[in-house]
Amino acid sequence: MQAKQTMTTKILIWMCAGLILGSLINAVASEVAFVQDYLVNGLFHVMGALFINLLKMLVVPLVTFSLICGVCGLGDINKLGRVGLKAFLLFLLTTALAISLAITVASIVGPGQGFELSDVTTSNFTAPASPPITQVIIDLVPSNPIAAYASGNMLQIIFFTILFAVCILMVGEKARPIAEAAERLNEVMMQVVTVVMHIAPYGVFALMAKTFSLQGLGLILPMISYFAVVAVVLLLHAAGTLMVIFKLFSKLDPLIFLRKMRTAQIFAFSTSSSNATIPVTLRSVEKRLGVDNSTASFVVPFGATINMDGTAIMQGVATVFIANVYGIDLGLMGYLTVIGMAVLASIGTAGVPGVGLIMLAMVLNQVGLPVEGIALIMGVDRLLDMMRTAVNVTGDAAITTIVAKSEKSISIDTFNDPDAGQVEEIHLPHSKK
Ligand code: ASP
Repeated sequence: MQAKQTMTTKILIWMCAGLILGSLINAVASEVAFVQDYLVNGLFHVMGALFINLLKMLVVPLVTFSLICGVCGLGDINKLGRVGLKAFLLFLLTTALAISLAITVASIVGPGQGFELSDVTTSNFTAPASPPITQVIIDLVPSNPIAAYASGNMLQIIFFTILFAVCILMVGEKARPIAEAAERLNEVMMQVVTVVMHIAPYGVFALMAKTFSLQGLGLILPMISYFAVVAVVLLLHAAGTLMVIFKLFSKLDPLIFLRKMRTAQIFAFSTSSSNATIPVTLRSVEKRLGVDNSTASFVVPFGATINMDGTAIMQGVATVFIANVYGIDLGLMGYLTVIGMAVLASIGTAGVPGVGLIMLAMVLNQVGLPVEGIALIMGVDRLLDMMRTAVNVTGDAAITTIVAKSEKSISIDTFNDPDAGQVEEIHLPHSKK
């Protein structure tokens, strides 16, 4: 029991150590060349980047094998459509609720009112061109699946893999060895995830130490009203709205859910990437919460790409903030457009670090707010990105569990068992023990 509990706690301790060390370096050693060259841009940078690569390395093979197993395990194409539709509608609902809450709270608090543009140093922000919605739809189908796998385009990978797996079912007996092979490969990939999780404390430490030595907490001060509103709404959504929906739809205990999601949240927080966190989310949802692979393998990667509640919250608050700074009144129609645009924008963009700002540029453009306003909030975006990614991943897992419960593809015993799926000690095959 003792050994089992230590993994999440260990990651948490190393995360705090990284945060403290990074902040100390930022406060007292930001000019010391030795510390910057050998620690921040040397050791921490290399360790952190290695860890992110390790996680990203798992995503494509894990999603592929897991999804083939999942679809073949379902054995019923109608069920697949139903699971997809339920998940999609719930993703839209929670994202719309998230941004509505953000706009409401921000309108009441009024961040950015009386803000002097000279209070913060602004860097230039050039908005990247956003793809039209027609292109987003066309791009769902890969013209070359190998290119889709190579570039890690999640929606294209999901599309091709589901089609492939459905055809395995259609071919029947002859194709069964492929399904069985995918099942074994999936087992192996899950084991790789477990191995990587043993390295996680040090990877998380390095990521935190690097981020916080570069991003002093002092940056937040001039932007405190914006920062605080985003942080509070993120908390309200994750612990409030999402958990109410979770309880209402699944009748399961939200506290157990939140406790078991802690590891995935820490990964999301330190990597700022829902995509890179997919392996850990998938593991937590299947092994800790007891969701069947048939549901999790599909809904988790789908959610990591199209469901971004935390990002929507940032966009809501940022829009109100920028409108206040520039003294522009958006009116009800303007805010409704923001809600619609933010929900649409989250569908076409993947969960990778910083993508929220690109989505925000689309939203601002649509309602006629100055896109340069983004330069104001860029300084604190790195820290908010970490927080909102943790909320994004929580939303993905909550909806996966709700859908699984409604499809009766969840083991309630596993869900209620506090020890289920804890990362155990690993033993290399040759170790004598
Ligand atoms: N980093 C976020 C994610 O991966 C997206 C964003 O808000 O920039 O979910």
